[in-house]
Amino acid sequence: MNGIYLLLGSNIEDRLKSLNTAVDMLQASGALVQNHSAIYETAPWGKLDQNWFLNVGLQVKTSMEPHDLLRACQQVEQKMGRERNLKWGPRIIDIDILYYENQIIDSDSLIVPHPGIPDRKFTLILLNDLAPDALHPTLKLSQSELLKYCEDQSECLLTKYQLDIDLA
Ligand code: ADP
Ligand code: MG
Repeated sequence: MNGIYLLLGSNIEDRLKSLNTAVDMLQASGALVQNHSAIYETAPWGKLDQNWFLNVGLQVKTSMEPHDLLRACQQVEQKMGRERNLKWGPRIIDIDILYYENQIIDSDSLIVPHPGIPDRKFTLILLNDLAPDALHPTLKLSQSELLKYCEDQSECLLTKYQLDIDLA
């Protein structure tokens, strides 16, 4: 895997605005967006009785080390009013680190590559947009292969929504 990849999701209030606000705040904190996937509308995962999400994948460039990047992501979540209560519950913004180059991290606060990647079709669809041929550092499969083998049947619809940014 080359590059650093983030997953953004929102399923309450103005979801597109929240994605854009989070992107602006991430850029202001030093994670510059080099590339992004399309925006998808996805069925909630894990806890089904809630609104559909808008999701987007970002490739970012940053000098922050992984734990500092996680802290920056969490600060954006907090500033945007994310309430951390229900696991997999509704959220104004969720920012996950999917990959950080080929690093393998397993600490109390951070697991990279994100352990949900192989099981979540929407995540693999975003990654397949961004880096179809890049290999998962431990599974040694490309994002397109992981997508092909993923058995998740949850819906994930391509939207015409656009992020309001200029790429770094
Ligand atoms: P989730 O994203 O699983 O729905 P949260 O956003 O509330 O749930 O995150 C729960 C915890 O997951 C965070 O406190 C964070 O420390 C931890 N975490 C572990 N690995 C990662 C990762 N790769 N990206 C983001 N958070 C992570
Ligand atoms: Mg999260």
